[in-house]
Amino acid sequence: MRFQFENFNYTFENPSICPHCHNGIEPRALGNFPEIGPDNTKVCYSIWKCTHRDCRSIFVGVYEIQGQGRGSFRGFLDGSPIGPHWPDSILNLESRFIETYTQSLQAEYNGLTEISGMGFRKAIEYLVKDYLIHKSAELKGKIEDSALAKVISDNFTDPRENDLKELLKRATWLGNDMTHYLQYHDYFDINDLKELIKLVMDEIHSIEQKRHYIENIQSKYKK
Ligand SMILES: [Zn+2]
Repeated sequence: MRFQFENFNYTFENPSICPHCHNGIEPRALGNFPEIGPDNTKVCYSIWKCTHRDCRSIFVGVYEIQGQGRGSFRGFLDGSPIGPHWPDSILNLESRFIETYTQSLQAEYNGLTEISGMGFRKAIEYLVKDYLIHKSAELKGKIEDSALAKVISDNFTDPRENDLKELLKRATWLGNDMTHYLQYHDYFDINDLKELIKLVMDEIHSIEQKRHYIENIQSKYKK
């Protein structure tokens, strides 16, 4: 897409994924509207139509204009983010984890980054406590209102769960940073937190799959 603004030419790549249906598309351009906002920031609103046959949604991309032909893509005004791939062990878990994670992702997508960090921290808490209760039902009624850090260090004691425990501790530290007034881990941000949560999900899935196959496939030779 190209447009002119204050005697300069601006060129940006067209969106290649629809923010509504998430299909790869060559969208149809409906128009570009460069504007000076109330706080003197300069942005261009570009309006597109998804060409996917089942979608055909209209969406608006926002480009920041830095001047003299330079600028960058800020985001879409509408649509929703693409969620992570949920492994089966997570999908089958009775938990508000996925819902909380998805809401946090939507908050981040809409630029509400202060809130999304807290949401991801809350999602980790659901994941940990519901996973532990799923594994051993006798924990129900005992861990729900306990501090998350203590629940993690008290309950992942099997050596095979060591990586999971260490990843969870770090996800919780970063998550706490985003919930509290002071931040202790300056070099890590919300993308690192999401990466840690992804690794936690992979780890849980791997542990559960290994357990499943080791328990269910028996030797054909009598012991
Ligand atoms: Zn679409």
